[in-house]
Amino acid sequence: MEIKEIVKEQQAFFNSNKTKDVSFRVEQLKKLKQILKENEPILFKAIYDDFGKSEFETYVSELALVYHEINNFIKNCSKWSKIKRVSTGLANFPAKSYIIPEPLGVTLVIGAWNYPYQLSLNPAITALAAGNTVVLKPSELPAKTSAVMAKIISDNFPSNYFCVVEGGVKETTELLEHRFDKIFFTGSTPVGKIIYQAAAKNLTPVTLELGGKSPTFVLADADIKMTAKRIVWAKFLNAGQTCVAPDYILVEKSIEIRFLEALKLELEQSFNFKNDIEQNYVRIINAKNFDRLSKLIDNEKVFVGGTLNAETRFISPTILHLISFDDEIMKDEIFGPILPVISFTNLNEVVQKVKEKPKPLSCYIYSKNKKVVTKLLKELSFGGGAINDSVMHLSNSNLPFGGVGLSGIGNYHGKAGFDSFTHFKSILEKPFWFEANFKYAPYSSLKLKIIKFLFE
Ligand code: NAD
Repeated sequence: MEIKEIVKEQQAFFNSNKTKDVSFRVEQLKKLKQILKENEPILFKAIYDDFGKSEFETYVSELALVYHEINNFIKNCSKWSKIKRVSTGLANFPAKSYIIPEPLGVTLVIGAWNYPYQLSLNPAITALAAGNTVVLKPSELPAKTSAVMAKIISDNFPSNYFCVVEGGVKETTELLEHRFDKIFFTGSTPVGKIIYQAAAKNLTPVTLELGGKSPTFVLADADIKMTAKRIVWAKFLNAGQTCVAPDYILVEKSIEIRFLEALKLELEQSFNFKNDIEQNYVRIINAKNFDRLSKLIDNEKVFVGGTLNAETRFISPTILHLISFDDEIMKDEIFGPILPVISFTNLNEVVQKVKEKPKPLSCYIYSKNKKVVTKLLKELSFGGGAINDSVMHLSNSNLPFGGVGLSGIGNYHGKAGFDSFTHFKSILEKPFWFEANFKYAPYSSLKLKIIKFLFE
């Protein structure tokens, strides 16, 4: 079906008011969960074929989060859709005031490739829970995953309600020519700017979930072993192809060597370098990214790792040391299994350096010193983050997830996501039986006094 037809039919379906019925939405969410569960073997196979992601990682970092979000909406979407009474104030006596949450309409969700299921399905689920229709455009890079989602959804949902349009730049550009009531985009900052410009033509509201270089502070008083364990997991999950992965480490000079050794030990324990890592580790998504990443590895600065295989697009988890802010690797988001470590002696100086960079999507601080943690939280602006952990903040759907500045606009996850696909219609309702006449002409000083009394 042509994109023009899909959008037109979704508009007609939305206008039928069917999606405004919360029980309809809950039914659809339950159905989606059941279908995903039934198709798990196909979903696991597709992502493995695309970039070697194991069943364990796919479940933990994709499907578990999708099921969790579906359950959250099934439980709460009725409550979050309820009309909310608010106080009115004397000036409008005897009126009452309330807010009606209403769906925005026909929405476009554009996904990124690195977590192809959850980054496409979770925004779509959120939009459906809030009562919208959805056109989903997954990333074209993991081609098998995109095809599986398209098949599962087209086999089970009518295209005038929930539909997948597959494709790349050409298809996305065509989609963006149409007027949507909301565009939700996950991807890079440069493409985010293209989406924002296209949306502006129709004043379409956007949520832009973008990327950036997420700093990770490791202070001298941190528990070194636990810090290394948490950072290694967060950084090398999905071969570092995670928007909120620690991009670079800022470690206090006094513990630099001990910390590097702890990272190395943790890597050796987590990934069996000698035997089967090359078979079991997630691949770099394509040759273009493999080439980009391989150029970032300065062999003189490799502390551990640095093994490459262009044919299989394998890069072993790599830690670089003796890095400064002027190194090439510090220019753009890394988005791969390479972790540069910068040591410092003066915290204020490195804080200034971080501030000179665009506001990151995440920031992580490892320290037991509450004073220093508070100072960093106060001084640095970033989307969200964690103290003494990395990445896991996104697994708590009570925490709105999103960037700030060049790392994004808007939030989602749980209620924040529901609200981002909702318009809050404000209503003041007055009965006929009383009218305070002080606002009407002829004006008088007494009327002005009353108004001043009410408003000041
Ligand atoms: P990308 O910007 O290249 O692609 C994202 C989507 O945009 C894809 O669906 C793609 O088909 C489409 N697209 C690409 N070029 C386009 C163009 N010129 N016009 C219109 N559409 C276009 O991003 P990616 O490579 O898929 O993902 C990597 C980036 O996404 C990283 O920067 C990462 O940090 C970021 N990211 C952010 C989040 C988040 O939640 N904030 C999550 C994952 C990834």
